[in-house]
Amino acid sequence: MEPPTARFAFATADFEEAEYVILGVPFDLTTTFRHGAKAGPNAIREASHGFEPYVFEHDVLLTKIKVHDAGNIEELGTPADMVRVTEAEVTKIVEAGKFPILLGGEHSITIPAVRAMNDVGVITIDAHLDFRDEYDKNYLSHACVLRRNADRVGIENVLAYGIRSISIEEKRAPMPEYIDAYTIHDEGVEKTFKKALNMMKREDIYFSLDIDGIDPAFAPGTGTPEPFGLSSIDVKKCIKMMGPRMVGFDVTEVSPPYDNGNTAVLAARLVIEVIAVTHKLRKKR
Ligand code: MN
Ligand code: MN
Repeated sequence: MEPPTARFAFATADFEEAEYVILGVPFDLTTTFRHGAKAGPNAIREASHGFEPYVFEHDVLLTKIKVHDAGNIEELGTPADMVRVTEAEVTKIVEAGKFPILLGGEHSITIPAVRAMNDVGVITIDAHLDFRDEYDKNYLSHACVLRRNADRVGIENVLAYGIRSISIEEKRAPMPEYIDAYTIHDEGVEKTFKKALNMMKREDIYFSLDIDGIDPAFAPGTGTPEPFGLSSIDVKKCIKMMGPRMVGFDVTEVSPPYDNGNTAVLAARLVIEVIAVTHKLRKKR
């Protein structure tokens, strides 16, 4: 493990006492269009220091929540190495009964994260379906994430939300449940995300946020931007609706070389949102 350049804000707990463990996976070897996501974890950490510790709309004081920042996984040579080492690290977090939060890195880091979880459904917010069986002869590509998740948890236990890019190959093969961005814009996030949650058969949900699910107007710093996306407040509403059921989270595809700073800020704020909401709602279980 490598120490981060800056610890995530408010993450002052050690591993043993932590309720949440933040893990950076600075990996972007399979990105297909614009590289740079490997600088994501430290950029998100640095951006996290701009916020108040009090999240007033949830009445949550972050300094009272035990969060540990485990640092970054060391730079790895191949996707298979990344998957092996990341799965081992996330397994340690999950076996210790803690809530894992991964900072990407490209979206393929979700493949080992989901392998480390037990009996979860997966909801991804993404512009892309990521359901190719392989891409550039690589079955661990960031274009294959949801397909690999489906291999692990079953195609009936994955759902993609915010989609506006599907390849013809994906269209011709068995597809997972998805809700496209145009339907969301027409019908609203409350109605469509409620529908998504009702489709999830498993109670526990792992939430994977590919930042390109959010419109490039809000999140320009990403490798494969797609217009017509969700707004940042849409995703905040989704997090609140998932709160009671969420057991793990990652934010991926933040690419600092293409960022004006706002994408890392948004990613950091959504990490804080996940912590505030799940801490509040999970206590009531
Ligand atoms: Mn994407
Ligand atoms: Mn993706």
